Amino acid sequence: MTTISHWIDGKAHPGSSDRTGDVTNPATGLVTAQVAFAGPEEIEAAVASAKKAASDWARTSVSARTQVVFRFRELLNSRKAELAAIITAEHGKVLSDALGEVSRGQEVVEFACGIPHLLKGGNSPQVSTGVDVHSLRQPLGVVGIISPFNFPAMVPMWFFPIAIAAGNAVVLKPSEKDPSAAIWMAELWQEAGLPDGVFTVLQGDKVAVDGLLDHPDVASISFVGSTPIAEYVYERASRAGKRVQALGGAKNHMVVLPDADLDLAADAAVSAGYGSAGERCMAISVVVAVGDTGDTLVQKIAERTATLTIGDGALDTDMGPLVTKVHRDKVASYVDAGAAEGATLVVDGREVDAEGAADGFWLGPTLFDHVTPTMSVYTDEIFGPVLAVVRAGTYQEALDLVNANKYGNGTAIFTSNGGAARAFETDVQVGMVGVNVPIPVPMAYYSFGGWKASLFGDTHAHGTEGVHFFTRGKVVTTRWPDPGTVGGLELAFPKNH
Ligand code: NAD
Repeated sequence: MTTISHWIDGKAHPGSSDRTGDVTNPATGLVTAQVAFAGPEEIEAAVASAKKAASDWARTSVSARTQVVFRFRELLNSRKAELAAIITAEHGKVLSDALGEVSRGQEVVEFACGIPHLLKGGNSPQVSTGVDVHSLRQPLGVVGIISPFNFPAMVPMWFFPIAIAAGNAVVLKPSEKDPSAAIWMAELWQEAGLPDGVFTVLQGDKVAVDGLLDHPDVASISFVGSTPIAEYVYERASRAGKRVQALGGAKNHMVVLPDADLDLAADAAVSAGYGSAGERCMAISVVVAVGDTGDTLVQKIAERTATLTIGDGALDTDMGPLVTKVHRDKVASYVDAGAAEGATLVVDGREVDAEGAADGFWLGPTLFDHVTPTMSVYTDEIFGPVLAVVRAGTYQEALDLVNANKYGNGTAIFTSNGGAARAFETDVQVGMVGVNVPIPVPMAYYSFGGWKASLFGDTHAHGTEGVHFFTRGKVVTTRWPDPGTVGGLELAFPKNH
């Protein structure tokens, strides 16, 4: 049985802790490897190596740093199928979806190739007589990234291309459920010419996370995961004086107005509800059927679920297994609960006929109708292929429902009425909004992030907000006086003239 190591100082580092975790292939249910869990010794070694590398890397010219990022992009682009296969083997998502995740991460790498432009400061000559002002942005030093299981390549890539291009050293703590993608990317960075220590992978669980949150040499934390852990990470790292962005969970509503194209809406609900087995923070988990759309919409969604193939993601299926048996059973327990609480179970995924090993972590697409806001299938983030249809009498009722939800990650409206869409985009209390687009993930040059319990901190991922997060601003006021033209004592607060 292989053990997946840490990556410290440019090489695989087995670590001295005897704690490890199982890594499984969700399509077979088999344990395929062990992953090392960091203890205090590895945490110290990882941060010390990153700290040493950070100071030289920050002094490396912007052009030289950018060339390394360009080379990383070229290598990633030519070898992304390898990374996608690794993701499918440990996460379970289908290969085309894994490739899609890598491509969306690659877009952030491409954005980071523009770092010379993004780091340009301002300059104001002669702000006072003989005085000029300019601004610059400098790297933070060692930055920590803690990522979830559901996007083992894309979520780290929301952060590290920009952090590295801006001159920081990164310590990435990937999810212990699918840790191999991070090691593959570390090797790719080395091949691209990144100096040892600028990209470090620390494998593990809460011990590794807490070690980064508390470490005085880690300047910032970028976290993505569930809301309770995001809140914990935000509080603990902030208390330790760090800059923190902590992205949390979601319950994304898709509002369907009576004037919508219901075939388009049903296609979107199925694609966004069941893609990646619902294990996406931007998955649609609630469809709000407005007016008299409910019966037709539910029928169209149900018809489409019957056409989906469920099975091993490596075998060209539509939907793969869930990530672990524990998670599969938890999601199935919500199906039991929804039925017990009185929702109408239209499609039951518990008895699924999957193309794959009997011990895979299977759960088929599940559809509930007549869900009410007090049922657990509505209140909780299930993070599986369970779609809840809630009926709303009016647009206003639908909007109020979305706004009353504690999460605010993504939402969508389906309509042919531009005025209604415009009102929705203005009034909805959610960070990412789609109009006839079910998964409105922003492009890399915009920023990704939710509102309310979906984000702790005020900075979203990537785009210009990402550049700001990974750099500190400085303003320099300069005077080069001719000899004898200025001087003398002046104890009053400086004025401009
Ligand atoms: P998770 O919160 O269980 O784990 C995320 C990370 O935190 C992992 O690296 C894990 O090792 C670590 N962790 C877990 N428990 C911890 C603890 N008690 N103390 C310290 N660290 C801990 O999340 P997950 O199950 O890996 O991922 C799914 C969740 O992530 C969902 O809630 C999903 O909505 C969310 N997510 C959000 C976004 C977003 O952009 N808002 C994106 C992707 C996923």
